[in-house]
Amino acid sequence: MDLNLLKELVSIDTSKPENKPKAVEVIVEAARNRGLRAEVVEDSKGIPNVLVYGKGNGKKVLFVTHYDVVPPGDGWTRDPFTPVVEDGKLYGRGAADDKSAIVAVLDALASVENAAVEPVLVVAGAEETGESEGFMKELEGDVAIIVDSGPNPTIGSSGVLKWTITVKGKQAHSAYPFLGKNALYDAAKIVTFVERFASFAEKFLRSEYAGAEHYEKLPVRPSATVLHAGSAWNIIPSTAEVHVSIRTIPEWNNDLMEPLFLELLEEFARENGIEYEVRKDIDMEAWVSEGEETERFYDLYREVTGLDVNPAVELGGTDGVHFKDRMPVVQFGPMRPENNIHGPDEFVYLKDVEMVERVVREILRRGL
Ligand SMILES: [Zn+2]
Repeated sequence: MDLNLLKELVSIDTSKPENKPKAVEVIVEAARNRGLRAEVVEDSKGIPNVLVYGKGNGKKVLFVTHYDVVPPGDGWTRDPFTPVVEDGKLYGRGAADDKSAIVAVLDALASVENAAVEPVLVVAGAEETGESEGFMKELEGDVAIIVDSGPNPTIGSSGVLKWTITVKGKQAHSAYPFLGKNALYDAAKIVTFVERFASFAEKFLRSEYAGAEHYEKLPVRPSATVLHAGSAWNIIPSTAEVHVSIRTIPEWNNDLMEPLFLELLEEFARENGIEYEVRKDIDMEAWVSEGEETERFYDLYREVTGLDVNPAVELGGTDGVHFKDRMPVVQFGPMRPENNIHGPDEFVYLKDVEMVERVVREILRRGL
């Protein structure tokens, strides 16, 4: 793995649009130095993306990465754009998410002359802001490998449902509470209802698939995350807002979870005399991708890494969603939960970057 190239990429603050051309230049030059053909593709917004073509024939396998990063944020004990190696870890914004994947795939492509697949390294320029969606949706291929995840490979992602529940009460002076109806009390009841529903879901609404982290059988995960209520200490509030989200799974997808939750909520509100309105804000389905290629990937992955992994689903969303309707999708990479991606002191274990390079090289040698 070319550590100097990784350090050079991490040192460029690609959260800023004006620095993106510099990163693109570095990637294109690194590809050409390795004897690989590289192409810069600007999307409709003028954001540059890079495609690097490996040498081989067979199924067209897209290795999907991104060079943009989120801003550093607060709390760093090191300079986020001065990469340093300590105890086998490289620190810096983008070290794990997702610049090490670019270098790992690039080096793997350079090391195999006659691949058993037609490999393409895709390096998107605005993944973190969601602006690369259009670019990704137009890419053609036979298999997509999203190298923007962790060492536990996944073939799907959780879905999301999100609502704003507005509770209706009646405003009054707090010296005369009998004249009002306290929306905050009713909102608190709804919060407790969601908490109970969450423990029910964790026990009974579970997937056959493991979670990429933590869960042996990934459950549906409801949460109450925002509560807005009240304006002054001496006023009984007339409205309150509760934000509720449910992370769904392929077996309990949005079409099942939405009526189940809303009907239970309605019954609970009726029993408790709560008046409310619901607005749905987000509705993204869970998905899972299957095919002979994903099975072959898992076999190869177990053999190369020695890790005992089974098909799993991501707890959040990934870019696999932009490919899943056109081709089988696998997601993996060097990102572990402790790597602080999007947080302070982001780092990557160099041995994980080498693992990614090894896996990609074996895909090239053996095919999928
Ligand atoms: Zn990423």
